[in-house]
This record gives sequence, structure tokens and C-alpha cells, in this order.
Amino acid sequence: MLPIERGLEIVMSAARAKDRPDKMPAKSVALADSLHRILREDVLADADSPPFDKAVRDGFAVCFEDLTRIPAVLSIIGESRAGAGADVSVQRGQCCEIMTGAPLPAGANAVVMVENTERISPGSVRILRTARENEGLLRRGTEAREGDTILRSGRRIGLADLGLLAGAGKSTVMISTEPRIAVIATGDELVEVDENPKPGQIRNSNSYTICAQVKDAGAEPSALGIARDDLDDLREKIRRGLEYDILIVSGGVSMGKYDLVENVFAEFGVEVLFDKIAMKPGKPTVFGHRGSTYVFGLPGNPVSTMVAFHMFVRPLILFLLKAEKTAPDILEAKLEAPAKCDAERAALVPALVRFDGGQYWIQPAPWKGSSDLVGLSRANALIMIPCRPGTLEPGETAKFLLME
Ligand code: AMP
Ligand code: MG
Repeated sequence: MLPIERGLEIVMSAARAKDRPDKMPAKSVALADSLHRILREDVLADADSPPFDKAVRDGFAVCFEDLTRIPAVLSIIGESRAGAGADVSVQRGQCCEIMTGAPLPAGANAVVMVENTERISPGSVRILRTARENEGLLRRGTEAREGDTILRSGRRIGLADLGLLAGAGKSTVMISTEPRIAVIATGDELVEVDENPKPGQIRNSNSYTICAQVKDAGAEPSALGIARDDLDDLREKIRRGLEYDILIVSGGVSMGKYDLVENVFAEFGVEVLFDKIAMKPGKPTVFGHRGSTYVFGLPGNPVSTMVAFHMFVRPLILFLLKAEKTAPDILEAKLEAPAKCDAERAALVPALVRFDGGQYWIQPAPWKGSSDLVGLSRANALIMIPCRPGTLEPGETAKFLLME
């Protein structure tokens, strides 16, 4: 069986082999729709940030040299409001009332916050604390200089980036065109979410989780519904799915008598590059391609599907989107409880992780196996347990993936 890393290498080298410059061209979207998308342009600061020396406290703009001896009484010569400023020049013995975000008047070199002052009269104030030079203010250009590259092409746009783009005047941004991804659930036992399962039936949850994972990765999902464990129905849906950039089928790839997905892949001439990964859950993960379409068969158990998507499909989508980083984020933690290893497969076990004393601590969460979404939803991480006999002991370092 293939180790996880080897499987991922196969997926990525297939993607590199098929890559063409015109695949997934860049397109413009409204800033509000750009979160979590892959940026396809370098973004430069269109002005210094901040664009002027600005107060970061409400209080009084002063010459800090006046405050070597306190309390000090200063005369108030004006008011600088956010958005306006004050057309004054602060001399020794003077100050200017100022609000957070307002331009620092000429001559001043510190802002004393209002809490450290006592108003004596409309024209004078008593300053109760000393100030250092540049205290209570931010000098022009200290965050970024006009023309600095603030975001690079290939970056996944995060929340702070979105604010930064807004601040830089980008009402539209260039992102990668979304790959189109077909999602097919399979199983005679499945009913739709709004139906009541009869004895032996369960609701189709994978279509929802896969489509959500597809969206989160920055691609566009199309749920093609449920295919029954029947050659004709599978053929009909898989034929449609093969017209997309990626086809994801969940279920029907294990050893059961009615697991027919791989047969239908073969009928359509899908070249399968692997159909087993030394991973628990997620062993019967299938990957292949036909023409320009990548094809995945993910094991049907809800947790297996999610994990296999995260390890193999998401990196491929990010590659197609020209993201700078495609591999899952792997962190390290100290184990707080033993974790059993498997001699045949690397395991990804739902876990609880916390950050304390400068490092992560982790322990397996209560979990009943690869169908147990209840257990998974109470966990916040997956421990990556290496493929070997024995047990990882408390105190050992373990790798893990953070889940949101
Ligand atoms: P399979 O991979 O088809 O053998 O399915 C493995 C297990 O996952 C079975 O218990 C299925 O009922 C369950 N399963 C398969 N597809 C789905 C789905 N779309 N939603 C929820 N559970 C599923
Ligand atoms: Mg099935």
C-alpha cells in the first residue's frame, strides 16, 4: 500500500504533467467575494500606510520635551479631528486636542492620552504623565510604504488580507477562475437530507461536506446527486461528471459486492494511478484521470471522505488555482495520552489540541471510527499517527492537522 506522502506526490505530479498556462485563467471579482480565494496579482500599497502621522490615542498632541517635569500645564491652541486635522503648529508650552485617527499637527511629537490629563479651562490642560517621543502616534509609512508589495500572487486571501485590499483601494481583485468539480454520492441506502430514512437507510451527508470542502478550497462544486449501486445509474452520473475539471465520487470503492465505481471508471477509460492508500481512515481512496479530468473515488464513510479530501483533493485544487502553498498545514504537539499505532497504515485520529506554555498539547478524542461525525465534531484536530507497531506514549511529539 502507498504511504500518504507517496499518494500525494502522484496526485501532484499528474497535475504538473497536465498543467497548461491557460488553465484556470485569472479573473476579476468584487472584493467582497474574494475571501479564501487565491490571489492572482501582486498588490502594491497605493500610498504610505498610515498616509500621515496619526494619533492612536484620544488626548493631546504635545512636545514631549515639555513633560520632563510633571504635572505640566499647557495651553490648548486647537483641535485635530479624524478626517480634518488642525491648521496649527504646536510650540513649546502648547498642545492641540486630538482624536484617534486624526493627523498629528506640525511641531507635536507625542500624544498624551486623555486619561492622563486634567482639563483646567477651555484653553488649558494639566498633563499628569510624562511621554516618550512618538508615544501615542504612528508615523507616516511605518506599516508600509507606497509601492511596497503588500500581497503576492498565489496567496490565499485571509481576513486581514481582505481588509488590507480594501485599504489599498482594491474594489475588485484578480483571483483564479474556479475549477468546476462534480460531486456524486453513491449508495442504495442513501436518501436526501429532507427525506425520512426508512429502515436501513441513512441521509446523504457526503455531498454536503464535499461541496463545502470544494468551496472552501476555492473551487466551484456541482452536486450531481445520488447514484444507486447499479451500473447504469453510475454510468449515467459518472459520464456527466467526467465533463468537469475534477470528478469526486464518494462510496462504492471498497471490496463489497456492490462497490462498482472502479468498474465504471475502467469502462470510461479512466487511468487509475492508485486505489489504496496506507491511511486510516481512507484506505480505499482512488485517484486517476481521463483526458483533462482528474478523478477521485473517496471511501463513503463520512470521516474517511473528509480526511481523504483534505489530504489529496484539496492540494490538487490549490495547485490548479496556482496557490503558493498546496500541502496541508502540519503542526507538532506533545502527546498527553497514549495513541495506538497501526503497523499497516498511518492513522489520522480525531483529537483535542490546546496551546499552553508556548506549545501545543494533544490527545485522542472519544471517537467510534470512520462513520462517527459526532466524535469528529467534538474534536478540533487530527493526530497523524505514524505507520508502525506499538503505541505513541505521552510526552512524545506527534504531528497533527488543525481543523477549524
Ligand atoms: P461505501 O464506501 O460505499 O462502502 O460506504 C461506506 C459507509 O459509508 C457505509 O456505511 C455507507 O452507508 C456510508 N456512506 C456512503 N456514502 C455516504 C454518504 N453520501 N453520506 C453518508 N454516509 C455515506
Ligand atoms: Mg456504498
